[in-house]
This record gives sequence, C-alpha cells and structure tokens, in this order.
Amino acid sequence: MSILLSTLNARYTHASLGLRYLLANMGALREQTRLQEFVIGTKTSEIVEKLLASKPRIIGLGIYIWNVEESARVVSMLKRVAPEVKIVLGGPEVSYETNEQEIVKLADYVITGWGDFSFAALCRQILDGPQPLMKVQAGVQPPLADIAMPYDLYSDEDIAQRTLYVEASRGCPFKCEFCLSSLDKTAWPFDLDAFLGQLESLHARGARLFKFVDRTFNLNIKSSLKIMQFFLDKLAAHPEDPVYAHFEVVPDHLPEALKEGILKFPPGTLQFEIGIQSFNPEVQSLVSRKQNNEKAAENIRWLVEHSHAHMHVDLIAGLPGEDIDSFARGFDQLHALKPHEIQFGILKRLRGTPIIRHTQDFGMVYDAHPPYTILATDRIDFSNMQRLVRFARYWDMIANSGRFAHTLPQILGETPFARFMALSDWLYAKTDATHRIALDRLATLVGKWLQEQGVPAEVAQALLDSDYAGQAHKKHIQKKAAAETRKTEGSLPQRQARHLAA
Ligand code: SF4
Repeated sequence: MSILLSTLNARYTHASLGLRYLLANMGALREQTRLQEFVIGTKTSEIVEKLLASKPRIIGLGIYIWNVEESARVVSMLKRVAPEVKIVLGGPEVSYETNEQEIVKLADYVITGWGDFSFAALCRQILDGPQPLMKVQAGVQPPLADIAMPYDLYSDEDIAQRTLYVEASRGCPFKCEFCLSSLDKTAWPFDLDAFLGQLESLHARGARLFKFVDRTFNLNIKSSLKIMQFFLDKLAAHPEDPVYAHFEVVPDHLPEALKEGILKFPPGTLQFEIGIQSFNPEVQSLVSRKQNNEKAAENIRWLVEHSHAHMHVDLIAGLPGEDIDSFARGFDQLHALKPHEIQFGILKRLRGTPIIRHTQDFGMVYDAHPPYTILATDRIDFSNMQRLVRFARYWDMIANSGRFAHTLPQILGETPFARFMALSDWLYAKTDATHRIALDRLATLVGKWLQEQGVPAEVAQALLDSDYAGQAHKKHIQKKAAAETRKTEGSLPQRQARHLAA
C-alpha cells in the first residue's frame, strides 16, 4: 500500500464522499490506495501514528473549513516525523487563497478545485516521475460521465451506521456571493440511470438514509421526479422498512408535477433543506441572490400545510445591508410560515467567495480563523453579533431540537424574534454558557423565564411537563437524551420524529 487518502470528518456519522470519489478514480493505482477517516477532536499524534502505520509514500488529505486547523497540526507533525512521505492537499479550503495558508506551506502539493482525476495523475508522477514541478496544481474538471461513481466504496459499516451522501449533479447556476457554489456558474448532471443503479445497489445492501449533496435538487424537474419515483417505489415495496431522503431545494421553484410527487411521501421519509437566507430585497440584491420572495413563501406554506416533508429552512445573519431589525422581520416572516426548523446561521467568509467585495463598504469584520465567522458589520456591532450567535445556539437547543414543542408557542408569542432574543439574553445572564446546559436545567430555566413574563406557574409547568424537555428530570429520559446527543448529534430523523410527535 503506497497511497493513503484521509480526512478529519466533522462527525463519525459523516462518511466522506470526496475521498471515496478519489479512491474510485485511482485507475491502476486503486489497488495500492487505501482510505482512512478520522473525526475532529482526535489527538494529533494518534492520527499521525495511524497514518504512518501502513508506511504510505503519499498521503492525500481532504481539507475543509471544519478541519483545516487540526489538519495543519497533522501535516506539521507528519513532516517532522516522516519528511519523506509526500503530503498532497485538496478540498475547498485550500482551493482558493492557497498561497497564504500555513497548511499549504507545510505540505508538498496542493490540488485546487476538482481532484477526481488530478489526484491520481499527481500520484503517478510522484511515484514514477518525472517529479511534478509545481506545488499548486489546478485540478482538471473531467466530463461527469468519465468519473467513476464511488458508491460501492461505502462499507457495510458505513451503510449500517453513517449518513450516506450521494449526488445526482454537481455545481449551481446561481450566484449568491456568500456561497462557494456561486463560482460554478452552472450545474452538471451525472448520468441519471447509472446513478439510480448505484442507489439501487446501496438500497439492496441495506442503505436507508440518503442525503443528497446536490446544491439544487429541483433545478431539473424531470430528473427530480425520476429520483423521487425511485424512493416512492422503495417505500411502496418496503413500507415496513422505509427509506429516508434529504434534498436541498430552491424555494421559489415548485411546479405542480413536483408537488404531486412530494404529496405521495408518507411522514418521516422526506426532508427538504430550503435556503431562504434573507427575505430582505436590498440584501438579496447586494449578494446577487435571485429569489422570488412571494413565491418562496407561498411554496413553503404549501409544503407545510399539504405535505409530510420535514422542512428545515436556512436564514443567514450578518449579510451586508442587514441590521437586527430587518433580520428580525425576516425571521418573524419565516417563522409565520411554520417550517419545522429554522436553521439560523451566522455569515462565514468562505475562501474564494465574492462577498469579499463588500468588506470595505459595509464594514464587514470577519474572524481571522476558521470558520471565518462575521464579527461585526456597519449595522451590527460586535456585541450585538454575539447576541445573535447565542440566539442561534439557544434556538437550536430549544426550538429546532423539538424538545420544547408545546412550550415554544408560549415563549414566542406574537413577536417570535424579540421574545426569543429576550429569553436568549436572560439565559446567558443566568448561565454564562451556551453549551453543556443539561436539558432538565434548561427546562427549569425556561419555566422561570415564562413566569417572569407573567405566565402562571402552573401553566408554564403543564406546558413543560407535556414536552420531552419537561420529562428530562426522569432518569431514563436523561440517559436517552445523552445517548442521542452523543450518537447522532443533529441527526435529522430523530429531531424530525420529535417534531412529528408534537
Ligand atoms: S446559496 Fe444555494 S442557490 Fe445560492 S449559489 Fe449557493 S448553492 Fe447555489
């Protein structure tokens, strides 16, 4: 074995699709290439020891925003203890602004952009010569039809325990300036029949949880319908052992044919991640996001009212031109549409994204370290941005978790953003923490806050008692909650189950 492909995933449940693509496309080198994944938080020396155990000549590392700092420590240690091993980096985090990065200085080679074919080509050069002259190699983008699909590389353990990422297309035709996919300018589809054949094999091997990484699932409706039909057929054939599919969709494009297909999915089998990002037309135009807000709202409302799809809708705080009041209006507008979850993200400046053009004009100050989160703008100062960060965290714990489903409407009243911000400020003042707050303590605190707002104690208690959170003092629930959090933190089907039960 002479080539090792590796990365640090954000969680064990995330199986790296990128590495599997590289392995599937190694050609003659495939036999001598192996894949070894780690999870962030693992001791650097442990990773290095395991990487070197098989005495590789080349180590390829997938570098992402969530692992770049830990990966840099891995590369640094590798270069100290085994300088003869060639280190090749790839992935979005090293594809732009490459030369100024510490990790790039430490490594031997970097492939920017698409690595499917370029990694194997670089390895051939390293192993057989002539040695590559350039440290930074621009990845070649082959036609998708030439790329071998990697799905047979999901092991039985992956199928049994991890989320299986799949993609029917790459790229995005939209140009939202905060998003790396805006640089693609278009989307490229994989051969649909071949792709569905791969899904068929995965399903036959027991795979039931499919997460599509396509940036826009509902771009080509004919393909969307065919993919949906694949899942509907599986659901019809195996209702006792259902599949679960997750898609990212644009909200303002939901033709009738697609709606008809969506309606056929029973509860607990379909999830949509929908990017709204901002309802503010001024902000949308500043970041070049084209979105018909009226249509988007109408479609979200329709999905909530008529379908069983679990709806997870994204908003971003800290965009240029947005102040707290305009963000609050967008939040309340979205909340009124009643999606199951509002994913409240704080803007991050991803390397290579064109949003950088607004830095001067809008006083955009970003953290210098990954994930390069926005710290302040000309309209939201640092301390208010921190309040929004805490809001997002508490929102995830209280609203998105589904653990306070009956209490939540009482918390939010008629002015959801303002009320939850008040609760968020109060919780932070009381706990000085946004993490490691036990669920039973959180439930008690929420009860106290409600009472301070004038809710009679017995009403607050009855609401909490009817919720998962209010049961948290009972030992078995505590154990279950802790196990769930450890095992599949953020796992969508479990959160979905709580939303469905509410
Ligand atoms: S935010 Fe979504 S629609 Fe916009 S460029 Fe990125 S992937 Fe495409």
